[in-house]
Amino acid sequence: MRWTKAFIPTLKETPAEAEITSHKLLLRAGLIRKLAGGLYTFLPLGVRVLHKVERIVREEMDRAGALEVLMPALQPPEIWQQSGRYETAADVLFKVRDRSKKEWVMSPTAEEVITTVAAAEINSYRQMPVNFYQVSMKFRDEIRPRFGLMRAKEFIMKDAYSFDATDEGAMASYKKMYDAYKRIFDRCGVQNFPVEADTGVIGGNYSHEFMVPADTGENDVVYCEGCGYAANIEKATSGIPKTAARDAGGAFEKFETPGVVTIEALSKAPYSVPANRQIKTLVYIADSKPILILVRGDDQLNETKLMARTGAVAARPATPDEIFALLGARPGSLGAATKVPALVASGDVKVYADDRLQGANEMTTGANEDGYHLRNVSIERDIKVTQWCDLRTVSAGEPCAKCGKSLKIRRAIEVGHVFKLGTKYSEKLNATFLAEDGSRKPSVMGCYGIGVTRTMQAIIEQCNDKDGIVWPISVAPYTVCITPLAVAPDSAVMQVAESIYADLTAKGIDVILDDRDERPGFKFKDADLVGFPIRVAIGEKSLAKGEVEIKRRGGEMILVKSDDAVAKVAELIAAAGN
Ligand SMILES: [Zn+2]
Repeated sequence: MRWTKAFIPTLKETPAEAEITSHKLLLRAGLIRKLAGGLYTFLPLGVRVLHKVERIVREEMDRAGALEVLMPALQPPEIWQQSGRYETAADVLFKVRDRSKKEWVMSPTAEEVITTVAAAEINSYRQMPVNFYQVSMKFRDEIRPRFGLMRAKEFIMKDAYSFDATDEGAMASYKKMYDAYKRIFDRCGVQNFPVEADTGVIGGNYSHEFMVPADTGENDVVYCEGCGYAANIEKATSGIPKTAARDAGGAFEKFETPGVVTIEALSKAPYSVPANRQIKTLVYIADSKPILILVRGDDQLNETKLMARTGAVAARPATPDEIFALLGARPGSLGAATKVPALVASGDVKVYADDRLQGANEMTTGANEDGYHLRNVSIERDIKVTQWCDLRTVSAGEPCAKCGKSLKIRRAIEVGHVFKLGTKYSEKLNATFLAEDGSRKPSVMGCYGIGVTRTMQAIIEQCNDKDGIVWPISVAPYTVCITPLAVAPDSAVMQVAESIYADLTAKGIDVILDDRDERPGFKFKDADLVGFPIRVAIGEKSLAKGEVEIKRRGGEMILVKSDDAVAKVAELIAAAGN
């Protein structure tokens, strides 16, 4: 390709719409252009990168034995109703109507479709294991699209779905995908690591996310350098000890706390109740029923864990009015030791308490009476807990549950997600098969996603410097940029440039020849901005000595004999290995 024919509209200035480095570089390097919020056109260079990422994804999926299919982007809402996700995923579902006003769902994912296929086509255990995948446009009614391709309204995703006859088979299929994902992100040239993850609205019982570390990522990952434990903060646990029990005194007693409505205020004089001896009481409305959540005063409730533990489809904090109607007090004076036990007994309210409070006594909590608290509360004695569970958010510095070493937290971008789904979808959509023992069983499923467009941006977020993108060779729009410092048609410089261009192209290497009649500095700047991994510069001075300059993006410049240039470039590509 010649630069003058390649359509690379680079930008000197950073467009105001871009907040993070990778988004700025996508625009500045001429890879994408915005149509509207969360909607982008991929320009020729962007498409080249996209295709390279997709090629790696397809090669590894094929290698893992998955079979490529292509499913419709328009899906009937009935199958979403059947799976139950028409409601649970309502927030993100794009819906359109056709001329007869019939509603359609624009695919954000395809569990329902592929399970419908399996229900009709997979009838015997002999047809499994089988894994179908597709690479296609997905849609998400994103409330706040941002960061370019990171959170867009439409995006390219690779989604795969495995069907197995047994649970062990499903685990083997899961492991295959897990390993394939590791290879995919390694080959894309990004630092990446898998973490344990919550299964969220998609359901299922076992899940990992693949993360690319980046300060601008939207996920917090808890990890341990001692044993390698890593989990999304929505899922992470630690070995933090439970609240120490004390020599319990008598019954709890009410005391006056006028105007005190925060943990912090109660921890100060004249009350001086440390946060770790307080019970924080929160009221949520889960699937339209009130629930109480108890965590220690110095802990934070993790809403994802709350959803997972309660199994709620929808949950939100109750309004002050709803709370008053239920408990007769306002936030800041709430507790579960008074009034609540009767509500629990009558089945009107459930109380979920964080494990860390189990066995705690001499605790202080609200009295469900504005301006009063209770002291000397023994949680086991005075509070009717419906369910003990892990509800708190882990903090950095807490001990690892596995090895005791101090946990760390870092930001990361989620680029892939693997789930063991179990039989959730196969049961609801009747994807059953005839088992070896003659019985009819629902197939055991797994689902596996990679955000292809997001991966492209995550690579840039990790691989850049002050001059622009530093593409890994495996995904660069062009591997080599040949830069003749002067472009007069019959000059010696141009002849050598053309000859190297022809030889590299003949070897199947992606080359772009910068044939623009511009100053060398200008051309180098553009090449660095776009981030071509290898640059071959040909100038009169070095050519007089029979030499050309070869430079790895971000590396040192070396001089080689012009006859050796092609071999040297091939050597650099081979050394990159992916
Ligand atoms: Zn550890």
